[in-house]
Amino acid sequence: MSGLDALPPLREVIAAHGLAPRKSLGQNFLLDLNLTAKIARQAGDLSGADVLEVGPGPGGLTRALLAEGARKVLAIEKDPRCLPALAEIAAAHPGRLEVVQGDALSVDAAARLTPPIRVVANLPYNVGTELLVRWLTPPRWPPFWQSLTLMFQREVAERIVATPGSKAYGRLALLAAWRCDARIVMTLPPAAFTPPPKVSSAVVHLTALPEPRYPADPAVLQRVVAMAFNQRRKMLRAALRGLCPDIENVLTAAGIRPTDRAETLTLEQFCTLARAVGPAG
Ligand code: SAM
Repeated sequence: MSGLDALPPLREVIAAHGLAPRKSLGQNFLLDLNLTAKIARQAGDLSGADVLEVGPGPGGLTRALLAEGARKVLAIEKDPRCLPALAEIAAAHPGRLEVVQGDALSVDAAARLTPPIRVVANLPYNVGTELLVRWLTPPRWPPFWQSLTLMFQREVAERIVATPGSKAYGRLALLAAWRCDARIVMTLPPAAFTPPPKVSSAVVHLTALPEPRYPADPAVLQRVVAMAFNQRRKMLRAALRGLCPDIENVLTAAGIRPTDRAETLTLEQFCTLARAVGPAG
């Protein structure tokens, strides 16, 4: 027994099911159930919420989410070797854990869950950013989820919460700040994981705002931000040259100096610029 529930300690689970971690799948496991409980608690009140977990692996975080009272956990895992261990967790919590084996990038999770929905995951490093961008740019807002509580490499976490003028400031920070509150709630040293990764990690908690902070067409804003940071060292009049023929006038009309650089522009200025550029063609 492990303390969190009546299931065996994770080291025994890994040994029993032959779950030697695979680098190709981004497998850095959390084996300390006190730590997974702490992460689950950062997600807020889970009772009465459905939880989406990407990459449950041997199930340390999954067990914590269930122990914290999640109504249902939908766990999407690519590695079929993990399924027997996850089946044991499902059996210990009848009707509360659904496991889908597959690639989280191609599973329609929202269709399998009932709001309110929270997303909690120790993400595989190779698809983490792509998943976050998808969750931040849905066709409609508010999104299917109420909050995201996600483990990233610390450097990626810092890019999500970065402010203007800092080296980490860019597309991820603007996407997050436009329609969410985002903050780092935990940092973890490499030694917290098995095997230890090369770098530190951090948990970011994002909550969805009911509406964007400033009005802007999502497609235009994303295009402006992507172009501006694609050449972040260039002045905006050069970086955004391909956006519209009279970009210098558009920048001036939006109250932005054409000689400014992307990394100094605030979210509000990017939204003003997106409105000045006009609707997506
Ligand atoms: N949640 C576990 C923990 O905290 O110990 C495992 C986290 S490990 C960093 C990432 C997990 O994501 C692995 O179990 C890996 O097999 C799984 N994974 C990798 N790519 C995936 C994908 N595209 N879709 C779903 N799961 C994936």
